[in-house]
Amino acid sequence: MTKHIAILTSGGDAPGMNACIRAIVIAADRQGYQVSGYLRGYNGLLDDQRIKLTCERMHNLLQQGGTILHSARCKPFATHEGQQRAANNLTSAGIDTLFIIGGDGSFRGAHALGKLWSGQIIGLPGTIDNDVAGTDATIGYYTAIETAVSSIDKVRDTADAFDRVFLVEVMGRHAGFLALNAALASASDYVILPELFEDEEKTLAQISKQIKQRQQKRGPVSYVIVLAENVWPGGINDLCERLAKRSEMDAKPVILGHVQRGGTPVSQDRILAVKLGTYAVSLVGTAVSGVMVGTNEHRSVTVPLPQTWEKTKALDEDSLTTMTTLMNHRYK
Ligand code: ADP
Repeated sequence: MTKHIAILTSGGDAPGMNACIRAIVIAADRQGYQVSGYLRGYNGLLDDQRIKLTCERMHNLLQQGGTILHSARCKPFATHEGQQRAANNLTSAGIDTLFIIGGDGSFRGAHALGKLWSGQIIGLPGTIDNDVAGTDATIGYYTAIETAVSSIDKVRDTADAFDRVFLVEVMGRHAGFLALNAALASASDYVILPELFEDEEKTLAQISKQIKQRQQKRGPVSYVIVLAENVWPGGINDLCERLAKRSEMDAKPVILGHVQRGGTPVSQDRILAVKLGTYAVSLVGTAVSGVMVGTNEHRSVTVPLPQTWEKTKALDEDSLTTMTTLMNHRYK
């Protein structure tokens, strides 16, 4: 009997989600599976809002940012009643396998659903934050680095022209992957990361000392700081004001915000998305369920869903060492 699989995209949207949907639909079609897409994350599952996904619909989709299924958060799904309704709807619709493309929040929801629904559940990591354990990278992460880097390059131009201090806030939720790699690739002067942040006064002292040292050597200088969101207790404006006072320089805040979620996916995200989508379809009908598919040193792997949030994914030590060497500041 042919299988009926369903896909939804949930939580923070990420470039490459469409590429992943496309890979799933095409790989499923090769097997003769029927594919449906639930709209707006778990909301579509609760309201049984479903569309048919065909190969024809996948034409020219790989390079498009966003998600044709739309994404959303869904408070009712976080309750037992909501999950039970979702399970009932999946059973009524005759779904055999549910693919959830999202971050760790969406996977927590998927795990809870798995206790109430006997069908197969497979998660695919889609978030710009890269904060999902069990996979080398998440779909959307590389594009977000690229977007941040090209923005910081532009900030650098104006910082140089005016010999100004700029603070650029990047996303990442509570993880520093995006901030660290955006700082490395843009030759930023300093980066403030959640994993390493200790103390406001210490950070202010380090930055202003370094600015003064550079001024003594070179005269007027620019200085670009990458700040990961949710780290500085008083927010970016507070940091700007305090830094301007200390360093006696003009300091400007730039919040990159949701621009980091958009855009056409870069090739690394496209490749990751199509690899994981295809691998996920190869698991349909097997006993593997309640897992996320990911990559470990470029090989496709499956990881039990709880491991994606119970373990904290560590920043790459080599990148940290590189940053410390090139940016000439010490955290420890
Ligand atoms: P992301 O998947 O990007 O981490 P969220 O954390 O916002 O995004 O989660 C997306 C959705 O997943 C939530 O709106 C909710 O419906 C569901 N969800 C999140 N956490 C849980 C949880 N602990 N239990 C059940 N459902 C959850």
